[in-house]
Amino acid sequence: MLKRISGNTFYLPGPVNIGVYDHGDGSCTVIDTGIDKDSGRKIQKALEQENLALDRIINTHAHADHFGGNAFLVRRLKAEVWAPSLEAAIILYPELEPLYLYSARPLPELQTKFLQATPSPVDRIIEAGSRTEEGLEFIPLPGHSLGQIGVATPDGVLFTGDAFFARETLEKYFLPYFIDIPRAKETMSSLLAGQYKYYLPSHGLLTDDPQETLSANLKRLQAIDEFILSSLKGEPKTREALLAELISACDLLLNPAQYHLYNSTLGAHLSGLAEENKLEFIFAEGKMFWQLK
Ligand SMILES: [Zn+2]
Repeated sequence: MLKRISGNTFYLPGPVNIGVYDHGDGSCTVIDTGIDKDSGRKIQKALEQENLALDRIINTHAHADHFGGNAFLVRRLKAEVWAPSLEAAIILYPELEPLYLYSARPLPELQTKFLQATPSPVDRIIEAGSRTEEGLEFIPLPGHSLGQIGVATPDGVLFTGDAFFARETLEKYFLPYFIDIPRAKETMSSLLAGQYKYYLPSHGLLTDDPQETLSANLKRLQAIDEFILSSLKGEPKTREALLAELISACDLLLNPAQYHLYNSTLGAHLSGLAEENKLEFIFAEGKMFWQLK
């Protein structure tokens, strides 16, 4: 059942919170669609209960759990799909997600619905900073993915996608998934300004005060940077050696999906630290080593 946040802005709570903006003329926009056709079906049911026709879907970013319900809703309800350009590429060709995680033709173990959604058409490319005729504004929130956007409604609600994670998620996954650490930090710092009345992360609870959660996220990114810098104090190490250290120091759960998500996130920390001039790489013994600069 839809829950009202404020004015015409609603959401459908779940493992991935779905945003709904009522246009006031019997039609609506849905923000993200969950992981598969079952989540699409739940969205359809919730909209039917409120007599809302689905006009368009907006995808904050192209992770499988955020657009997996698109195909069902497009087929059933003829909705349009809008997404930022880089994200649109993956929504059209979802095999790109396991492909970039593995960096070659992916293992079948990575081609599950959690990392490779059903493809969906994309009807319009979203420019960050633009708005729809109903006043929905697209806010750039890069970091967790390269082109992620948030959606701000005229009721002062910001749907933040995966720009930051709930504290419980941080406890559960020591290494939260980010692909560009400097941009993730900038995004979180910009959200600290607190210009919206309500914030709804895709995984977590609605809040009117995200400061503490944002600080915890920033602290975690800092802690991982520091772990890497202090581990490299004694000697240069390969990415694989650093990953093994992180996994055993933090007692991280291992399976094919998690391993590649950790590896990608570690890669983001390494390229971020190189961008900040703190690290550099060298080649020796046929290996690529990271060392302090
Ligand atoms: Zn995501």
